[in-house]
Amino acid sequence: MEDERLRSNERETTTGLIAHWRAIPLYARIIVAVALGVVAGLALGDSAHILETPAKLVLRLLGALAPPLILLAIVQALMRAHLAGGQALRLVALLLTNTLAAIFIGLAVANVLQPGAWTTAAPGAPAKSSGGAADPLMQFLDSVPKSILGPFGDNGAVMGVIFIAVAFGVALRGLRTHEVRTVEDLVHVALSSLIAILHWIIDVVPLAVFGLIASIVGVSGFRDFLALGGFFIAVLTALALQFLYYALRIWLGSWANPLHVVAGVRDALLMAFSTGSSTATMPLTYELLRERVGLRERSASMGALIGSNFNNDGTALYEAMAALFVAQLLGMHLTFTQQILVVLTSVVASVGAAGIPEAGLVTMTMVFRAVALPTDYIALLLTIDWLLDRCRTAINVMGDVTVSCLLDGKVKEETREAS
Ligand code: ASP
Repeated sequence: MEDERLRSNERETTTGLIAHWRAIPLYARIIVAVALGVVAGLALGDSAHILETPAKLVLRLLGALAPPLILLAIVQALMRAHLAGGQALRLVALLLTNTLAAIFIGLAVANVLQPGAWTTAAPGAPAKSSGGAADPLMQFLDSVPKSILGPFGDNGAVMGVIFIAVAFGVALRGLRTHEVRTVEDLVHVALSSLIAILHWIIDVVPLAVFGLIASIVGVSGFRDFLALGGFFIAVLTALALQFLYYALRIWLGSWANPLHVVAGVRDALLMAFSTGSSTATMPLTYELLRERVGLRERSASMGALIGSNFNNDGTALYEAMAALFVAQLLGMHLTFTQQILVVLTSVVASVGAAGIPEAGLVTMTMVFRAVALPTDYIALLLTIDWLLDRCRTAINVMGDVTVSCLLDGKVKEETREAS
């Protein structure tokens, strides 16, 4: 009897603890985790790197969920939605205009503030990234799957999954028979179970955030921010302006209120900031756009799942600004034509950047080479990149959110009430 009572007490405390943990909004848990992570990092110094391992585990689990989620969500959206032919073209147009706006904002801020003129610094060790610039055509060819199951393997090639999902979605759409309706139910059940698993993992995301922040602050610290302060402030200013641009676009081009949208997706923005990975955040972004903002399924999956892989406005802005910054630092004058070249290569480089931490630094070599800037100088940015990367990742996710809202149009889905 006593034993039974003890066991049931224990069970109640556990569920009570979990219930309490869940009752705190995710964004609040993440903010506390970031603050505790900074304190732990400063206190532990270099030894804080051991905290990175559990954090990476959680990110790996999230990464594992991304391919099946993309597959099922896209197949479901294509099967159910009445897609207008122009929808894909509209997506491309939105992605391009937002990325160009980001680059122009970045270049304008760098031209006005001239961060390179008030910085004196020599290049550090050659950049780890200067080995090979990404060739966009080869990248495209590589993303076409060699086999149907290949992209679901350990290397999780997201672009390959999209190819397969679109092909199956369109094929199943054409087969409007009884069997297909059964497949539709199957896809729905599989997607729902995947989202349930996603919630379990999201519960432990704040712990991962704590480990990541502690290890990065412990190992890299804030030392180099003073030397590169001008560049740091210029990038933050440009990212803030890009954020305002998004708010304006949502306000003018969709039914949603930008404040309501930001409040709805704040968990995803904070998760992007704290993990530095827009791909790891992607499942949460999709979920929040559907459940909190109340977007149509097809808009959320087109913008946050498909678009997300091409849409890295924060990265584009950063790459263009970095090129201009290094040119200013070296006293090189970039002509108008060279700045246009920076714009064009930044668009391609941002599309090629994977949604993982510091991927932007790798594709940045492409931008530097286009205007003959020494790629060694990319290493200079490494010391402060861990923080700037997080800021631009949040903007990358906000870009996906904006595109989804714009695709949803001026009229809210009638049958759906945002919870
Ligand atoms: N970390 C960014 C992202 O995940 C990519 C980048 O390095 O700019 O979106």
